[in-house]
Amino acid sequence: MGFPTKAEEMEPAGYKLNGFGTCRGCGEKMEWYISPRGKKIPMNVMPNPSSPAVAHWTTCKESPLFRDKAKPQEEKRPEPARSVTPASNRWRDEG
Ligand SMILES: [Zn+2]
Repeated sequence: MGFPTKAEEMEPAGYKLNGFGTCRGCGEKMEWYISPRGKKIPMNVMPNPSSPAVAHWTTCKESPLFRDKAKPQEEKRPEPARSVTPASNRWRDEG
């Protein structure tokens, strides 16, 4: 048995409805479930017991948001070249 396929299979499988939310990526409404392992899972809204149980990230148009963790961090910030002389050095050569 893997992941539940219908809304009515969620609770028997140990998934508990935790609340409702909205996807930050696409703005769709979601239902938050807690998995048997205590993980939060955003599910597509299931209005009926026979509604398909689909994790939101599988249908989200902005699903790359959910994949961020898997991405290697490629973003590099080039250090700006600094040629600023600290003001305190200006007077040291005197004397
Ligand atoms: Zn979404």
